[in-house]
Amino acid sequence: MIYNDGYKTDGNLRFVNCPKCGNEEYSEEAKYCRICGFSAYNECEGSPEYDNFGNVIDFNVHRNVGNARYCEYCGKPTMLFNEKLLKPYTEVQAEQAEDPFPFDEALPFN
Ligand SMILES: [Zn+2]
Ligand SMILES: [Zn+2]
Repeated sequence: MIYNDGYKTDGNLRFVNCPKCGNEEYSEEAKYCRICGFSAYNECEGSPEYDNFGNVIDFNVHRNVGNARYCEYCGKPTMLFNEKLLKPYTEVQAEQAEDPFPFDEALPFN
């Protein structure tokens, strides 16, 4: 199954429209929406990287595609999911089960 309820991103995984306020103007180097301050990327919560002594030496945040509820690289929730801008997958499945033609597919004439 394909979860097609995400937000469109460009080739650099930046949102084409802000998921929160709908703004579509981003400067070239923008990391946040200039209207509402929302991140311009679907970033995960991130995970710390430790050295051999258990000290945090780095904090890795990953950019994900527009329908990712969880990071594909570290498994942490993404900001779209935390901000409830994406529904839990179980809800999407339940909706699709109710409606067998969710994409307004026309029935072919015989
Ligand atoms: Zn915005
Ligand atoms: Zn991650």
